[in-house]
Amino acid sequence: FDFAAPGNEPVMSFAPGSPERAALKQQLAAFKAVELDIPMYIGGKEVRTGKTVDIRPPHEIKHKLGHFHMGDASHVKDAIGAALAARQQWADTPWEQRAAVFLKAAELLATKYRAHTNAATMLGQSKNAYQAEIDAACELIDFLRFNVHYLTEIYRQQPVSSPGVHNRLEYRPLEGFVLAVTPFNFSAIGGNLPTSAAMCGNVVIWKPANTQVYHASFFMKVLIEAGLPDGVINLVYADGPTIGDVCFAHPDFAGIHFTGSTGVFQTMWKTIGNNIAKYKTYPRIVGETGGKDFVIAHKSANPDAVVTALARGAFEYQGQKCSAASRAYLPSNIADEIKTKLAAELKTMKMGTTEDFSNFINAVIDERSFDKIAAYIEDAKKDPKAKIIAGGNYSKTEGYFIEPTVIETTDPKYRTMCEEIFGPVLTVYVYDAEKWEETLELVDGTSEYALTGAVLAQDRYALDQATKKLVNAAGNFYLNDKPTGAVVGQQPFGGARASGTNDKAGSQLNLYRWLSARTVKETL
Ligand code: GLU
Repeated sequence: FDFAAPGNEPVMSFAPGSPERAALKQQLAAFKAVELDIPMYIGGKEVRTGKTVDIRPPHEIKHKLGHFHMGDASHVKDAIGAALAARQQWADTPWEQRAAVFLKAAELLATKYRAHTNAATMLGQSKNAYQAEIDAACELIDFLRFNVHYLTEIYRQQPVSSPGVHNRLEYRPLEGFVLAVTPFNFSAIGGNLPTSAAMCGNVVIWKPANTQVYHASFFMKVLIEAGLPDGVINLVYADGPTIGDVCFAHPDFAGIHFTGSTGVFQTMWKTIGNNIAKYKTYPRIVGETGGKDFVIAHKSANPDAVVTALARGAFEYQGQKCSAASRAYLPSNIADEIKTKLAAELKTMKMGTTEDFSNFINAVIDERSFDKIAAYIEDAKKDPKAKIIAGGNYSKTEGYFIEPTVIETTDPKYRTMCEEIFGPVLTVYVYDAEKWEETLELVDGTSEYALTGAVLAQDRYALDQATKKLVNAAGNFYLNDKPTGAVVGQQPFGGARASGTNDKAGSQLNLYRWLSARTVKETL
């Protein structure tokens, strides 16, 4: 093993005429030409129930990409049985062999299946080529490689021995199975949540969001090709309550690795709490659960830098990142310039399908999400405290399209300054440029979330003040940058408060949660 940290997977540019662009176009067409029949994967077997759900690109809802087979409680039970049957052998597999599976999966994604992983994400989740590349290719590859690296380092950490006494730590997997519940918005999170636990020697039930199944099922096949033994990760599609009822009632439930909403996470935590006496071991509860991420510009900020941070931070992938900028605090001295330039910038962003590479904005994930976001926009149109200053139109005839929208409010506690919307809607509030410290207080006290935040200033003292004052307001804090786009190995990702347990994805902190160490003392 090479103990040096791996480098990050380089991002491809898909420039016109480049071979990667041609390969991607070809794969998009190939995926669109067939209707996939997508099974669950339980104990290494493909399972079809006949109860199917259609998959359609969010930006082209008349086109069918395929369907997947929905499971029920009996399939979740089968998956747990298959996982437990595989457990001992997987736990006993030497680390080098376990690691090789995930490193090979990373190689397959980086080379043979680069176009597939991107095309599946572009079609299934409506990401443009660049957003797919930084997620389904680079970030997922990085998660696999860096987690192998970090785990190798963890396994080497040993206690000291003393004369006549030898001590060692054995990093055992948890005693039971881990449930991974993954969201639609990052294929990389879909891949990371089950594999990081499995890498540590655990067996996993993986339940992806229905809107992520197209990519998740593809990645499962990559893992199988890379040599993942049967039953180590079991991919199951079932509704959330069914999965929860079966998994949380099982005595071998040993942990949950979750990314999704705060409400669902809290409900699960309560159920786990109510069942606590049933379990063999205290389950590990790890979750990332949303954000209401801020961008604060100081009066010394460069207005153009603020416009870039907002345009990209709020609207890349239609604002559907937990990290997306969704409330901005603009100082009165430069607010007008920022607003005007931002509105002009948004006008240049083309909206449409992902297959047309010139589109920056694609569709939001599904109708439920579309309706929820549209309701916020309508509310702002009616409320005297709010005003739409850019965008505000939407349509769901061809796909779930919503224009990048900026709301300006005179009330810093207006609902779109506080509630998570998860769409292309940014709310701005203009503050008195001389009231910097009061504004930092306001930012800290406005939202229950604490995932990401950004401060832009050319005045170093202002940056220091914000860093100190907002110490608990964000788990990922960005100075003079946008609040999105954490890179594995560079900015470990996660937040506290209502945003999660802050067990930093893509770092040792996360991997420790899937290990249960045994101390062995031997007297010589
Ligand atoms: N890690 C991503 C970023 O930094 C966000 C992940 C998420 O949306 O959960 O933008």
